[in-house]
Amino acid sequence: MNDIFSTQDLIEGKLSALTPPARLAVMGDPVAHSKSPDFHNAALQAAGIEARYVKIHVKPEEFPTALRALPEAGFFGTNVTIPHKAAALAGVDEADDYAQQSGAVNTVVVDGDRLCGFNTDGPGLLRAIREEFSVDLRDLRVMLLGAGGGAGRAIAVQCAMENCERLVLVNRTVSKAQSLAEELSSRFRSDRLLGPVDRLQAIPLEVDRLREQLAFTDLVINATSLGMKRSDPPLLPPGLLTANLMVYDTVYATGASRLLEDAAAAGARVANGLSMLLHQGALSFEIWFNRPAPLSVMRTALHPA
Ligand code: NAP
Repeated sequence: MNDIFSTQDLIEGKLSALTPPARLAVMGDPVAHSKSPDFHNAALQAAGIEARYVKIHVKPEEFPTALRALPEAGFFGTNVTIPHKAAALAGVDEADDYAQQSGAVNTVVVDGDRLCGFNTDGPGLLRAIREEFSVDLRDLRVMLLGAGGGAGRAIAVQCAMENCERLVLVNRTVSKAQSLAEELSSRFRSDRLLGPVDRLQAIPLEVDRLREQLAFTDLVINATSLGMKRSDPPLLPPGLLTANLMVYDTVYATGASRLLEDAAAAGARVANGLSMLLHQGALSFEIWFNRPAPLSVMRTALHPA
């Protein structure tokens, strides 16, 4: 059930010849690490849908062809992961507002010969934060680390759409955070928060600037790729983390990352990106089938006992 297929397999019709036939996929490069088939296949089975969800290894140069092969191969749609999310936005016939603003598509629906694009990363994070910390993004002062990356941009746009109390965009290459702040500035112009600091700021990943801003932060989100390997250096010096913070790490590959270990040791409430993964997947299911996803089945498949 967890085999990896190729673009050629898709084009040659091998995936629809499987039993049950593959009708959904995650396309990425690499794709082997993806946990999406685990919970999507459990969801399909629980919903009584005779279809399977597979991994397809699609190289960047193959991506437009693979995307256009979906209708002919009888697919309902696909998920798209690294590095194809921006190419997916360019490759679909239409995309919803949030996908356009976040510059990325992670969910494609096949509608006849047309391809429709959505992005469930931001809405998935929104649900994950509510579930993990019993609070809504809109009520929080958020510091977003890695605002210059694809996930960071999607999360920043979601925070702006939620009109969160504050948003501090942090990036190693600060110019990327600054240009994103310019794009989002119109959404933060109200006087909603009367306080000593601006509602929207862009800062470099530097200790003094972080310390200054953390005094006016409730939730820290890591959307950098640091933490995917246990050997990665710490993203924040442990001394900056305090008990009043909530810390969400979108990385889930290593269980509790160093950031989460340090934050928990400081007494902060912490959660890793598995809940975001689960909820972005559940939202994709809802988009494909226009019905609620079997969330508890999906959760069990993601966290086997
Ligand atoms: P990306 O587009 O490559 O962006 C990487 C980001 O990390 C950039 O902001 C980059 O800063 C920063 N970065 C990389 N190395 C760094 C370092 N050594 N020090 C400081 N910052 C560094 O990647 P992405 O697609 O946004 O993915 C980012 C993370 O989000 C990944 O860990 C991924 O697992 C996670 N994610 C999780 C979910 C989920 O469902 N849980 C969904 C999507 C993504 P520069 O701009 O300066 O290079």
